[in-house]
Amino acid sequence: MNRLLYIIPSEVVMYRINIFLGIITTFFIVLLGSCSNLRGAKLYSPEQFGLVKVEDNLYVERGADEGAIHALQSAMKIAETAVKTTYGSVQSQPVTNACITEECYHKFGGMSSKAKVYGDRILLSPRGLDWHFLAHEWSHDEMRTRLSFIAWCRLPQWFDEGVAVAVSQAPEHSEEHWEYLVASDINRPTREELISYTSLRQWLSAARRFGATTNDERKARGELEIHPLYSAAGHEVRPWLQEVGTRGLLKLIAQMNDGEKFNMVYPGNHAQLTTQD
Ligand SMILES: [Zn+2]
Repeated sequence: MNRLLYIIPSEVVMYRINIFLGIITTFFIVLLGSCSNLRGAKLYSPEQFGLVKVEDNLYVERGADEGAIHALQSAMKIAETAVKTTYGSVQSQPVTNACITEECYHKFGGMSSKAKVYGDRILLSPRGLDWHFLAHEWSHDEMRTRLSFIAWCRLPQWFDEGVAVAVSQAPEHSEEHWEYLVASDINRPTREELISYTSLRQWLSAARRFGATTNDERKARGELEIHPLYSAAGHEVRPWLQEVGTRGLLKLIAQMNDGEKFNMVYPGNHAQLTTQD
């Protein structure tokens, strides 16, 4: 897109190109089941839908105060460092779009989640304006950037989520949260169940089954929100990442790009999820 900017300076043409690229990109993402609807295409022209450009890679909903903007800028730096720590370098260049109202988040296709990613466009809800959720979505974009199209399609959703959970270090998905779920005997996926969620559709369906839709009720009762599925993905992938490090992750990515099957490159014996505890 940047190269096109030099060739065709007309703002009108660029606007149309941005919309076109957004629709094309989102079309393929929809085909792959990586987003719920076409509203995410609006992120390819955010200024047309109420966001203001702060930097080339940061747009914020109109009306955000200086403090919120500075906090986002510093969150982006921390998130980038987190991605670099895990992947060794950062190859992706996502554009972050931050909503300070739920109305804005819904306009771009967000619902109850805290953040989303559409291709290389990250969308943050007012509840996800911190480095943890930024790093989570950035990890998805980094993984997609490093994998070939075919390899990305073949990467299991649970693994992509597990790496993102490990990168983000979000307290909601931490090992401590997993231990709370175990101690409270809250329903959570077994390892066998977790690794069966290979597609986004299966993942979202499992998220509903494992409590994601009950958090409003839990909050109303003054109880802690629960995140069994994401915590399980972190619980599975985190020990593997700690053992193999960046080299191991990059080796897995290279092997996937070489056409190897995921089950042949992920040994799967690092998990502690063989039973409900
Ligand atoms: Zn995710």
